[in-house]
Amino acid sequence: MAFRNANSLLSTSFLATAVFLFLSCSTPEVENTVLTPNVLAPESAANTPVAEDTATTKVATPVVPADAATILTRKQVPILCYHQIRDWRANDSKSAKAYIVPEDRFKEQIKMLADSGYQTILPDQLLAYLNYGTPLPSKPIMLTFDDTNLDQFTVAAPELEKYGFKGVFFVMTVSLGRPRYMSKAQVKELADAGHEIGSHTWDHHNVKKYKGNDWVTQVEKPSRQLAEITGKEIKYFAYPFGLWNAEAIPELKSRGMVAAFQLAGKYDEQDPLYSIRRIIASGYWSAKSLHSNMVNSFD
Ligand SMILES: [Zn+2]
Repeated sequence: MAFRNANSLLSTSFLATAVFLFLSCSTPEVENTVLTPNVLAPESAANTPVAEDTATTKVATPVVPADAATILTRKQVPILCYHQIRDWRANDSKSAKAYIVPEDRFKEQIKMLADSGYQTILPDQLLAYLNYGTPLPSKPIMLTFDDTNLDQFTVAAPELEKYGFKGVFFVMTVSLGRPRYMSKAQVKELADAGHEIGSHTWDHHNVKKYKGNDWVTQVEKPSRQLAEITGKEIKYFAYPFGLWNAEAIPELKSRGMVAAFQLAGKYDEQDPLYSIRRIIASGYWSAKSLHSNMVNSFD
């Protein structure tokens, strides 16, 4: 649904938000391709740009970011996307349950990651790796949380804390302070604790349908608001429903986004940093299933 003015949306946004609870992003991917699991190794010294010591070098050598083709050859870091973390209710539909990870299951999944030696990374580290080949931990993983659900603050964040993990929280600003969603103060608390706060638009409309002022409503203003809340720059964006197109990329770039996250679609060949892949960590997956899906989905 394309829209022309924000006021008309205000009246529908409650309904829309309820729908988003279950329809956010797309269906969890089911991939049958089995790729060889292997561990991400830091690049060899020969390929790693040397950080100049600016204390002894008056003019630092500019480090040129890798081109798209090089970025696309790098081994992918597994990135998981979570929505609600809560026990299933009788009226949860079969499809909704993929987006709702019961608390104990979530705890098992996170424990498995920690026990398996995974270490969470944040988008700045991912970008340094993709752009410059900066080494990552030997088993990196990124944990992302879409849609501002309150249980991400009350259940997920404390669980991450147990293992020294950090997450990326993609906030849709329309929901801030509403029942069952995080408040501004909670978003600030996550940011202060070292988690990354990214943008997930104002009210979760499909980026592919934006025209003119929609970019201001859905990207510019929410970024400004989140920057005011957190005191930090907002540089990362997650596409609602994981949907994007090439036309969206310059719009995001011009509004300060340095990378954008989709779901399990193909990378954009020209701008892979604006089509970074994630998979939905399904509520149906045991820790073991999560692991095998991760290994199979990221080469
Ligand atoms: Zn979403």
